[in-house]
Amino acid sequence: MLDIKITKTTAPKEKPAKDAPLGFGKIFTDHMFIMNYTEGQGWHDPRIVPFQNISLSPAAMVYHYGQEMFEGLKAYKGDDDEVYLFRPDMNAKRTNNTNDRLCIPNIPEEDFVQAVKAVVDIDRDWIPTALGTSLYIRPFIIATDEFLGVAPSNTYLFMVILSPSGAYYSSGLAPVGIWIEDEYVRAVRGGMGFAKTGGNYAASLIGQVKAHNDNYSQVLWLDGVERKYIEEVGSMNIFFKIDGKVVTPMLNGSILPGITRDSTIKLCKSWGLEVEERKISVEELLDAQKNYDTMTGIQYGKLEDKFGWRVKV
Ligand SMILES: *Cc1c(COP(=O)(O)O)cnc(C)c1O
Repeated sequence: MLDIKITKTTAPKEKPAKDAPLGFGKIFTDHMFIMNYTEGQGWHDPRIVPFQNISLSPAAMVYHYGQEMFEGLKAYKGDDDEVYLFRPDMNAKRTNNTNDRLCIPNIPEEDFVQAVKAVVDIDRDWIPTALGTSLYIRPFIIATDEFLGVAPSNTYLFMVILSPSGAYYSSGLAPVGIWIEDEYVRAVRGGMGFAKTGGNYAASLIGQVKAHNDNYSQVLWLDGVERKYIEEVGSMNIFFKIDGKVVTPMLNGSILPGITRDSTIKLCKSWGLEVEERKISVEELLDAQKNYDTMTGIQYGKLEDKFGWRVKV
């Protein structure tokens, strides 16, 4: 249990209007959570302070070798006016899986959840209520030693900042064009793909730029070994419906284990749907789509009815 010291702002900011377009990650609330780590002392000085800039040495290790991690989750205002998080214990667990990969010290899961709850509670009036909006929560850890040597840092900052946001993807549920990236990869097995860390995103920008330049809105990432199997789309896990089954790429070390992914699998199974976690090649996907095109092509008379399946009325 953290003993969190709270310093409230004396100059609250103006909140966005109820129906104002929020965008994603552009507006920040009045407060933030911050806690230090020092080797030998552990995590210490948990506090909530007014949202503000932080000051670091230009030699701080995070700027040079990318030793950092982040998480992302949301707070929702329920119809009952209460505030809800969605499976925050999963974010706490994933934080430590990421930390292990990046040689960042673990944070006790209950401390992570407590920190998130505490800062959301203070800024609960910032949670937007319009349909599809929520308070985006961004916990993150950065390496802060003033040192240019390559080694894990001895000091870190853990922070939680909050941003009232609309949907991450502004197109909502409308179909979008997807660019299949066959030159660059996002992550490789043995790399950091399963970890939520900035480096994976830095590696992904070029694919996104290529896609946007060609008027596609998302990148489909392939595996880093054979560039044949589907991994993720943009920064999302992906599901297909093939022959009545729900199919998603199996976790292989280079795919981020999304909490949405895990929840989707559990929900689909609860509805009696068959869910397969396995390798899915681009070829298989195009073939499955060919099935749809061929079948509907025959049904609508656009393709030759070579099996004699169409019956005239
Ligand atoms: C965060 C993230 C996801 C989604 O994870 P959720 O827990 O479902 O929000 C998917 N892919 C990547 C690369 C991510 O960074």
